[in-house]
Amino acid sequence: MDDRLRGNRPRRRAGRHFLQIPGPTNVPDRVLRAMDMPTIDHRGPEFQALGREVLEGVRAIFRTAGPVVAYPASGTGAWEAALVNALSPGDRVLMFETGHFATLWRELATRLRLEVEFVPGDWRSGVPAAALEERLRADRDGAIRAVCVVHNETSTGVATDIAALRRAIDAAGHGALFMVDTISSLGSLDYRHDEWGVDVTVAGSQKGLMLPPGLSFNAISGKALDAHAKSRSVRSYWDWSAMLGPNASGFFPYTPATNLLYGLREAVHMLLEEGLDAVFARHARHAAATRAAVEAWGLEILARDPAERSNSLTAVLMPEGHDADRFREVVLEGWDMSLGQGLGRLKGRVFRIGHLGDFNDLMLAGTLAGVEMGLARAGVPHRPGGIQAALARLARDG
Ligand SMILES: *Cc1c(COP(=O)(O)O)cnc(C)c1O
Repeated sequence: MDDRLRGNRPRRRAGRHFLQIPGPTNVPDRVLRAMDMPTIDHRGPEFQALGREVLEGVRAIFRTAGPVVAYPASGTGAWEAALVNALSPGDRVLMFETGHFATLWRELATRLRLEVEFVPGDWRSGVPAAALEERLRADRDGAIRAVCVVHNETSTGVATDIAALRRAIDAAGHGALFMVDTISSLGSLDYRHDEWGVDVTVAGSQKGLMLPPGLSFNAISGKALDAHAKSRSVRSYWDWSAMLGPNASGFFPYTPATNLLYGLREAVHMLLEEGLDAVFARHARHAAATRAAVEAWGLEILARDPAERSNSLTAVLMPEGHDADRFREVVLEGWDMSLGQGLGRLKGRVFRIGHLGDFNDLMLAGTLAGVEMGLARAGVPHRPGGIQAALARLARDG
């Protein structure tokens, strides 16, 4: 189309857009096709079979034998659901400032009139198990009702060792509920709701689960259900009891996101067909190759401790005097690839490479090629050869 016919419409770009933000992630064709269905009666028998199957199937992904509820909401809704169902206004909650998402969850908790104790952090590390144990030991009268942490801090690319935090809570002999945000880790990083004694796991559809945005989850322990029975929080839409009643027979208390549930059924099949351990190994491999590229470029990874570096995304610090958002614009304009922006206090200072979801070696090679060309075109000081370092690593580790 020439300029006159095109009018104000954007120029068409050939080929697939590279959506390399750490969520939403690329939705696989199989999931898109599974959702391309007529919306059915959510009170009829066909829906009931679907509801039963997905509510059962999704438990395997959380690695829980207990109930999982699915809300038609973004992840933020499931944050709120976890707090209003298991806690009461005035309850003391321990949270850790790992980054932007931990900060947002804390703000939400404060608005719900919880008494939040927010342990300061530098946005470059995870939750320290020793500090958690020490704080809980000092809480002799058990005033802390819940410990809430973000497994994979998507703003910084830092993953916290959740099993180590469970051991810390046990070592302190403390009875607090343990709540974990896995919105950007479930289906990408190893996660075990039951084995790690998590009471409420919060998750969302649009990251490791490879779905569009619009669904979010709470996996709920028996202890969390007991706390729910005693909770005095005002709630209606998020109420677990209202949800769990109809869920037992495959139904929902209100209109569910029917077509997203078709997609969820397919996504669960895909994750289990590949095998969860293989999915986690694939993410680890892509993360290692990405880090090899960043190191070869001579740029700095935001996550300080190599043991805490996330396998689902890498946040890269921009050299002093260079704007990460300007660099991201150059990459979008030049190669039709979206990279994650710096959030909150990291705005303009980092860019984030998402390497999670439905992703393979050649997609990673294309992603890193786009980053390397972007660094050159935007005039960001770096050494060339990151892409070679990553390819060598992918070629070596089969
Ligand atoms: C994306 C994300 C959220 C926010 O989820 P929304 O779906 O945008 O509401 C919260 N926590 C973490 C760790 C995330 O990655």
